[in-house]
Amino acid sequence: MDYRVVSIVRDHARERGGAPAVSGDGRTVSYADLHERSSRVAQALLAAGLGRGSRVAYVGKNAPEYFDLLFGAAKIGAVTAPVNWRLTPAEIAAVVADAQAPLTVVDAEFASLTPGLPGRTVVTGEDFEAWLAAHSADDPGHVGEPGDIVVQLYTSGTTGVPKGVQLSNANFAVGERMAGRWRLDASSVSLVPMPLFHIGGTGWALAGLYAGCRQVLVRDIDPAALVDTFERERVTNAFIVPAVLQFMCDVPGAAGRDYSALRAITYGASPITSEVLRRALDTFKAPLFQLYGMTETTGAIVQLEPEDHDPGGPRARLMRSAGRPYDWVELKIVEPGGHAERPVGEVGEVLVRSVQNTPGYWNRPEETAQLITEDGWLRTGDAGYVDAEGYLFLTDRIKDMIVTGAENVYPIEVEEVLAAHPAIADVAVIGVPDERWGETVKAVVVPAPGATLTEDEVIEYARERLAGFKRPRSVDVVDALPRNPSGKILKKDLRAPYWEGVGRTIA
Ligand code: ATP
Ligand code: MG
Repeated sequence: MDYRVVSIVRDHARERGGAPAVSGDGRTVSYADLHERSSRVAQALLAAGLGRGSRVAYVGKNAPEYFDLLFGAAKIGAVTAPVNWRLTPAEIAAVVADAQAPLTVVDAEFASLTPGLPGRTVVTGEDFEAWLAAHSADDPGHVGEPGDIVVQLYTSGTTGVPKGVQLSNANFAVGERMAGRWRLDASSVSLVPMPLFHIGGTGWALAGLYAGCRQVLVRDIDPAALVDTFERERVTNAFIVPAVLQFMCDVPGAAGRDYSALRAITYGASPITSEVLRRALDTFKAPLFQLYGMTETTGAIVQLEPEDHDPGGPRARLMRSAGRPYDWVELKIVEPGGHAERPVGEVGEVLVRSVQNTPGYWNRPEETAQLITEDGWLRTGDAGYVDAEGYLFLTDRIKDMIVTGAENVYPIEVEEVLAAHPAIADVAVIGVPDERWGETVKAVVVPAPGATLTEDEVIEYARERLAGFKRPRSVDVVDALPRNPSGKILKKDLRAPYWEGVGRTIA
């Protein structure tokens, strides 16, 4: 297959037209159907005056129509911009406006948003089907250049305002090789539970589509329903974020279910504790892959292989690693915000250079210049080190690092220790202002069901296991932690009340 994303649908329609491509909302679309439907979308977009480089927005949950749109847009060189439906109506409208999309496809579940959106809207269901039926199924035949943008994904906004990350044919071209690294092939049944407006949804689904297999789309994440889906659909591969993996392990009886079809579970997008890893291995008894990457790098750039997930083995330390970069990815560790390279084993900012690096943010030249250096290195904003064997160990986001006195504390290390406490179900560690130390360590903990926890108990537990400066000085016991749709803890929200009115802002 050549480098173009649109070739996925053209080539598979020719070679395995009848094979299922996408299942969702109770129906399955074959590769031939997808080819036909996307050609109709392409004609409809042309008729609406869109063309090469136009943006078309999608506001919706994981549904087959997203792929009609993505490939339809690609067939005329237009760009699909999926929007996070969890944002407020005003925020959604702002993203559609930022994308300058003259047309938005809106999931029927969100039809009430349509009056507030700029430009034209087409609602899935009858409206969308009539739109397709009104246009011919002739493939306009646009081929596209390597640098042509195919999708524009908005960053999670974990640390700031969502920015449109432009991803090109060339960025996705490694998708076929990646599918192989994830054990996806034409016979796979690949579960797509992560939202398609994130790279963990779209990137993962495109890899399965490159492989020519069936994607099982999940509209709403319900851990018990996911466990059922694994069994019912005989899922072979899945990409699941650590938070969801943890919830799935908590489902009563989860470990006793039939996962005999399962070939591998791929996880990533946020840190995972050794505790969750161990439970996932016990529950699914399947090989695990970890991925590290970001929207700006078209997803995964570093991978931890199943053989490196051996909690009892001599290389158990690797369970804290994110893995090693792909052959086509260069990594280096530099002084945060600077250029001076750090030696092996020393923590600094992770920089990456590869064909997967985005050409830049949409209409944000300043942010793009901050993101990518003149010689093509992309600043991840993540802190970490690389060991002598080339394994990357992430310590934290640079913005989440706590500076207390003259010491740097990486919250992840403290979280890892506290998560092992039997009465702690979930934990986040943040820096809060302190007159003497600048910042001190605070733990925000969620007690396990039926358990009670006190501040003293948590501090006492930490005292035996962590150096003095890393120990939490204060503890908040809460019912739940704020998370974004990828399961990432929104530390800026946890920090906000403590930093209000304090002269310094972080993140
Ligand atoms: P924003 O950039 O808008 O603040 P975001 O960075 O959360 O949001 P994404 O591009 O979805 O948006 O996420 C990429 C980030 O996720 C990485 O920079 C890293 O901090 C984190 N991450 C990804 N994979 C892993 C992993 N395997 N382990 C730890 N953290 C990870
Ligand atoms: Mg980011």
